[in-house]
Amino acid sequence: MAGMLERFRRGLDRTRQGLTDKVKALVSAHRAVDEELYEALEEILLGADVGVATTQELLGRVRDGMCRGQDSAAVLPALGEEVRAVLGPDEAMREEPGGLLVVLVVGVNGGGKTTTCGKLAWRYRREGKEVVLAAADTFRAAAAEQLSVWGERTGATVVRGQDGSDPAAVAYDAVRAARARGADVLLVDTAGRLHTKVNLMEELKKVRRVLAREDAAFPQEVLLVLDATVGQNGLQQARLFREAVGVTGVALTKLDGTARGGVVLAVRRELALPVKLVGLGEGPEDLQDFRRDDFTAALFGRSTA
Ligand code: GDP
Repeated sequence: MAGMLERFRRGLDRTRQGLTDKVKALVSAHRAVDEELYEALEEILLGADVGVATTQELLGRVRDGMCRGQDSAAVLPALGEEVRAVLGPDEAMREEPGGLLVVLVVGVNGGGKTTTCGKLAWRYRREGKEVVLAAADTFRAAAAEQLSVWGERTGATVVRGQDGSDPAAVAYDAVRAARARGADVLLVDTAGRLHTKVNLMEELKKVRRVLAREDAAFPQEVLLVLDATVGQNGLQQARLFREAVGVTGVALTKLDGTARGGVVLAVRRELALPVKLVGLGEGPEDLQDFRRDDFTAALFGRSTA
């Protein structure tokens, strides 16, 4: 899987510069493990968007494993090990062998929802699966257009309604279409306009209800698309979506565009949500399963664990 690791490495170039390279510079300038070193390390972690609580946890773990006065060269590998431990085991997207997997995709506008739906369609199609894309963002004609382009590109069927029509009705039609075609996967793209937060959440709940009425198991996956460049604000948005529609996993997009990839840790610990997918670029193959081993290897070098 060298190709996959290489993709992670490239996608995390900026975070490696913003986090790992800074820690390297710190330990080479500061030979002994002491309080000053921990303070500088804390600053670097906060700067990489690891978040306050998770930074404290990481520092505590590194401290526990270190002796005072020890050579600071041990700090970087120790940090890598603790990052790996804090992330916990990987959780992949759910599967529904022989049945219909329904994925409800939510998140604020501009985060990368439609792109993530398209990339997922591309990936499932490559696995030989029959895919239906539902354009349930009926508020923005451009979103449905964008999804149609992905439909053409991937050979997925696109179900869309009239502009301004009820998103739940589109979701309903899409389930019917998916069943009629014997599809394996239905990806439901939704609206994400934030200025009408209450209405948006009510609308998403309704879409969810309509899906569940078709089969109590639907949607098996509620994927929250979070833009990694938004940083800690994204966590607040995530809480709103989690309360409203019960998020089962996060797709963290645009990791390639930020030095603050530490947000992966904040999502895992502070939201207690698994990061299932990461966006490492704009191409379809740049949406990858999140693998903590690849993530830590890309940032800290190969893990010995
Ligand atoms: P939506 O409003 O949430 O549906 O967002 P879009 O899917 O339209 O995406 C907004 C922009 O982000 C588009 O220009 C995408 O190409 C870009 N984008 C999405 N995911 C990624 C990613 O992982 N990396 C990069 N660099 N750009 C991305």
